[in-house]
Amino acid sequence: MQIEVHCDDGSSRNCYGTVDIDLKYSGLYHENVTVNWIHDNRGREIVDSIIITPPNSAWVEQNRDFLSPSDIESIEKDGIFEVYYSDRPHHEVCSACGSDQDYDDEGNNITAL
Ligand SMILES: [Zn+2]
Repeated sequence: MQIEVHCDDGSSRNCYGTVDIDLKYSGLYHENVTVNWIHDNRGREIVDSIIITPPNSAWVEQNRDFLSPSDIESIEKDGIFEVYYSDRPHHEVCSACGSDQDYDDEGNNITAL
């Protein structure tokens, strides 16, 4: 399932602001996932954490390989677990900010030149 998070770069004038990422868990629907947005110290909206409410205990079995012992403990205790965005190994940037696109001073895409 894909969720929307902020672009981690934001340095390009063509920045999309958000980027879609894949969650590694299977069998989730949008109602099972809450993205927790906060403001950083520059006033930008950023994703702090992703709160997942597993639909049932079969889901926990299906996704056990992706769950840490503390995730499972949290599900058993509260019915939810929280993934901190800063713990993700790779932060995401949109293609406008990504190194695969180049822009001149006027903001024209000169990638193909
Ligand atoms: Zn961007």
